[in-house]
Amino acid sequence: MNILVINAGSSSLKYQLLNPESGELLAKGLCERIGLDGKFTYKPQVEGKQKLDAVDVAMPTHSEAIQAVLNALIDPENGVIASMKEIDAVGHRVVHGGEKFASSVLITDEVMAAIEECNPLAPLHNPANLIGINACTSVLGKDVPQVAVFDTAFHQTMPAKAYTYAIPYEYYKVDKLRRYGFHGTSHRYVSKRCAEILGKDPSELKIVSCHLGNGSSITAVDGGKSVDTSMGLTPLAGLPMGTRSGDMDAGVMEYIMKKYDMGIEEMMNILNKKSGVLGVSEVSSDFRDLTDAAEAGNEQAGLAVEVFEYGVRKMIGEYAAAMGGVDAVIFTAGVGENSADMRLKFVEGLEFMGIEIDPEKNNCRGVERIVSPDGAKVKVMVIPTNEELMIALDTAEIVKAL
Ligand code: ADP
Repeated sequence: MNILVINAGSSSLKYQLLNPESGELLAKGLCERIGLDGKFTYKPQVEGKQKLDAVDVAMPTHSEAIQAVLNALIDPENGVIASMKEIDAVGHRVVHGGEKFASSVLITDEVMAAIEECNPLAPLHNPANLIGINACTSVLGKDVPQVAVFDTAFHQTMPAKAYTYAIPYEYYKVDKLRRYGFHGTSHRYVSKRCAEILGKDPSELKIVSCHLGNGSSITAVDGGKSVDTSMGLTPLAGLPMGTRSGDMDAGVMEYIMKKYDMGIEEMMNILNKKSGVLGVSEVSSDFRDLTDAAEAGNEQAGLAVEVFEYGVRKMIGEYAAAMGGVDAVIFTAGVGENSADMRLKFVEGLEFMGIEIDPEKNNCRGVERIVSPDGAKVKVMVIPTNEELMIALDTAEIVKAL
């Protein structure tokens, strides 16, 4: 079985073709600058096949982008499948499922309408996801089943006390304003892998899952279910990130907007694109640049990294408290998987909770590994995330049941 996994943005589209049964990745790539000059990247994972790197392909809309993906996949010379018939289904990453979707679903006209109803909650992302789905329908036809996998779905198990904002309740009742959380597919994948690696049933485990990349979120997973998470109505909440502020006093906005006569659009642009570790460091949003700059003596870059590390450490404690204990702490995504030094900082001082890292075991990048000392009370683990595989697995399960 082959599943095409699509992650559509407004002007870009990432894709992977994989076999969910074996986990084998056949090809992956990226369409960029859709609607502009169109750049196409194709990376076959099969021996002897040529890749394409940001080549010019006309992509006035997402439909031409999907067509370019299919053309590459079935290309007689460098393709990885013989025909479109070898694509059994398509799995789409959809950002916001609101309160309507607590799990992945087969895409129907009703589902499309329900996703569209969630557009006001994710005005930048959901419309692009819908365009991606429509483009696949137009190119592949209605006979190839398509499945939506939501970033928010895993967090729908949160109790009301965790998702309710302490603002007038009417805004929840009328506008559905609440914490939703994101990165759900990633947190679900790594927490599932954690249980498999430890040979336990997910119901037995209290896990703090730390997805730390350009965007970062932490989730408390109790008994296999998300019970709290750091992102909110939007991905702006929680930890400071590459360019997002994370949590802060809303009074700061009032001060800035009044003093600098700023509108809400500009304020939100600052909080989403110019804040976080970029804002503090005035150097970069990229943690590698920041650690390099800090080592070279740039104190502001050092401070930005420290603010981030301190935020992660506090939240590990917060979620352990929320669950009344913790059996495992997982680090995933760009920073979590790759930065041994920062992992040490995230857990510094948490020995009193049984959380510690063995520096030798921790000396690894991008591999699944338990990095806490043997016999430690809490297992600290590095687990590379694989959202595409999770999407393919969900898609396969739904399609097989049809
Ligand atoms: P995205 O949220 O865009 O998917 P990633 O999960 O790929 O992001 O994470 C990107 C971040 O991970 C970047 O800030 C990058 O600098 C950081 N990163 C990757 N490798 C390392 C490393 N060895 N040390 C520190 N940071 C790293």
